[in-house]
Amino acid sequence: MDNVAFGGADILFTDVDDTLTTGGQLLPETYLALCKLAAAGIRVVPVTGGCAGWCDQIIRTWPVAAVIGEGGAFYAHRTAPQTVRWHYWDNQASHREDQTKILAAVAALELDFKPELASDQAFRYVDVAVDYNQQQALSPEQVKSLHDALVAHGFNVRQSSIHLNVWLGDFDKSTMAIRVGRELFDLELSALQARSVFIGDAPNDESMFRNFPLSIGVANIHRHLPVMAHKPVAITSERSGLGFAEMAEAWLRLRASLG
Ligand SMILES: [Mg+2]
Repeated sequence: MDNVAFGGADILFTDVDDTLTTGGQLLPETYLALCKLAAAGIRVVPVTGGCAGWCDQIIRTWPVAAVIGEGGAFYAHRTAPQTVRWHYWDNQASHREDQTKILAAVAALELDFKPELASDQAFRYVDVAVDYNQQQALSPEQVKSLHDALVAHGFNVRQSSIHLNVWLGDFDKSTMAIRVGRELFDLELSALQARSVFIGDAPNDESMFRNFPLSIGVANIHRHLPVMAHKPVAITSERSGLGFAEMAEAWLRLRASLG
């Protein structure tokens, strides 16, 4: 980490699951690192596939400038200490219509098993998440038949470690990060890229690795590298949230040495 050219970067986009969290928990070392980065003037923006309900908690309680959720469907930021504003990729009503359409299609699927929605579906604004490996345990064959049936409907489908995320729309984590750069930080793409660091852990972060040259992986990314076309420029020696803290320490050390 000591050789990473953090230079004049002052914005951090970070994945959440298995990058900030460690085995599902936010460790004190990781939260302290977030606080130190914010105190040093670095604007932190979590970028997650997680639901709107989760993002509401993050933007209200963590020291972050904004949060991007549901894989880039929206971002939220505070306009006053207790006031949160939500910005959708398209408009809220059309996303809701799409979500209703997808929910109806999932309910009408004729498979030899009944797919169950994720237990946090009620807290999602845009995305539909079908549970295959959180509270359910579908076989690889069942996951494949579900995946293929949803793709046949014309939906976007992405498999996380626990859910199949299903959505309509041409957004991803990086397209929304670029929009946050323009709308919140008043930076066009090249300026945003020059001033931003991204840290993540998995193939669903690839659009960020592709669009942000100063990208870092936490150590648990190693097992995914063979299938990734776009890779981080550096990898921490620690895993997950402790890798995040390692990156933050190196960045803050460099900032301090530069004055
Ligand atoms: Mg992750």
